[in-house]
Formats: sequence, C-alpha cells, structure tokens
Amino acid sequence: MKLQDKVAIVTGGSRGIGYAVAAAFVSEGAKVALCGSRAASAQKAAQKLCAQYPQAELLPLGVDVSSSSQVEAMAAAVMERWGRVDILVNNAGVTSTKQIFDMTDEDFDAVLRINLSGPFRCIRAVAGIMRRQGGGSIINTSSMVGTYGGKMQTAYSSSKFGVNGLTKSCAKELGPYGIRVNAVAPGVVGTDMVAQSVDDRMLAALQSLTPLGRMATPDELAGAYVYLASDDASFTTGTILHVDGGIVM
Ligand code: NAD
Repeated sequence: MKLQDKVAIVTGGSRGIGYAVAAAFVSEGAKVALCGSRAASAQKAAQKLCAQYPQAELLPLGVDVSSSSQVEAMAAAVMERWGRVDILVNNAGVTSTKQIFDMTDEDFDAVLRINLSGPFRCIRAVAGIMRRQGGGSIINTSSMVGTYGGKMQTAYSSSKFGVNGLTKSCAKELGPYGIRVNAVAPGVVGTDMVAQSVDDRMLAALQSLTPLGRMATPDELAGAYVYLASDDASFTTGTILHVDGGIVM
C-alpha cells in the first residue's frame, strides 16, 4: 500500500482519467475526496467505486473549479472530514476544437478558467494546509499539446502550456515547505473527452504518430499519479511526466 491513510483530493474524478486515478489511490490505501463538476456525478462515481472497493473511504463533492468559493468549500469539507490534505490531483478539464478565426473571447476564457485558473485556485486552497503539515504532493494533468501545441487547439494547448508553467513555478515556491509539484502529460486516452472532440480520421492520424500505435486506457495513466503521489517520488518535483505512448507531433 503506497498511499496508506493519505488524504487525496481528485478533481474531475467522476469519469475518465480522474476516476481511474481515484480508483488506483483507493486500491493503495488512500482516502479520496472524489470531486465532479456536479454533486450528482460525484455521488454516482463514488457509488461505483464503493462497489469495487467496499472498504473505500470516499467523500464525493460537487466542485466547479472555475469558482473560487466552491474550491475553498472543497478544501474546508476535506479538512472537516479528515483534518488534512496530503495529495491534490488537479485533473478537471475541458477542451475546445475551433479555428482561431472563429474563437470568441468567451470560448478562449472558458477553457482557461477551468484548465489553468482551476488548478491555480485549488493549489492556493491547499498549499497553506500542506505547509502547516510539513509537506504534500500536488499533481496537475497537463497534455501532449502542452509540449507540441495543436491545430484547432489554441485555447486548450495554451491552457496546458500554462499548467506546465504553473507546475514548475509552484515546485520552486513550495519546495522549501516539502510540497512537491509535478504534472502528468497524457497522449491520447480513451475517455469521453476524446470521443466528443476527436473524429475517426484524426484519431487514426494521432495513433499513427504514436510508436505504441494505439491510445491509452485511463487505467494506464493511473500508475504515474500513484508514483508521483507516493514516497517513491520523494525527490521528484517540477517534472512533467509524459505518459503518451511515445507520441511526437
Ligand atoms: P473527461 O471529459 O472524461 O473528464 C473530465 C472531468 O473534468 C470530468 O470529471 C468533468 O466532470 C470534469 N470537469 C469538467 N469541467 C469541470 C469544472 N468546471 N469543474 C470541475 N470539474 C470539471 O476527460 P478526461 O480525458 O478524463 O480528462 C481529464 C484530464 O486529462 C483533463 O485535464 C484533460 O485535459 C486531460 N487530458 C486528456 C487527454 C485524453 O486524451 N483524454 C489527453 C491529455 C490530457
């Protein structure tokens, strides 16, 4: 059990990569605040996880990460339940596939507000708690397009470049308090996000650029988060860990 009795918050935990991470954390002994954008989806995901792991200690929460007050309430609810926060996974995210000619201010800002300002808000909400505890591990979900950029992905890739900057800057600022800050940068993963935003032709093209020749399952990402959350990564901070099948775009 690599995370025995650790307290973790996972945003965007109701499905996809976040759900797989929450499940892996539970299987490693962590207590998990499973956050979805709505309370009902978080509750449903927690019920599913409890069916798989009857011993799971879960706190399902509806948290819109674009709202500072909801993020602060999330941290307060976890403190009230368990009195500490050891791990924060900033995984909630949305995408937008649009040519720059058609992108409105609102389109661009909506993606940044969730994908970049969301992790900032969550880090701000828990960093003081982790500092008082003497340490913690923060893991942000970046993306391959945070390294390579992406056509029709201006807002999304900009947000993920920003996530990498947030990761490296917070690693510098919070390292002296024993708080490690890293990111996982997935390639193509079979989730609702890909099903809704990538057509068959684009998917085939992306897979042909991937040396492993296929997309990942969400479970194949989870081990990287367990590693970064655990003491195995006690000297790892400011790292962007690529889990992308070797894709070069
Ligand atoms: P998904 O659509 O299955 O899950 C997204 C999650 O984010 C959901 O739980 C959703 O409820 C939550 N969410 C959305 N808006 C929110 C908000 N305002 N507040 C709180 N939660 C919100 O997608 P996924 O593929 O599992 O994506 C998870 C993360 O992985 C995202 O950050 C995404 O950018 C990143 N990512 C995904 C892929 C991929 O190929 N699927 C690749 C690279 C990076």
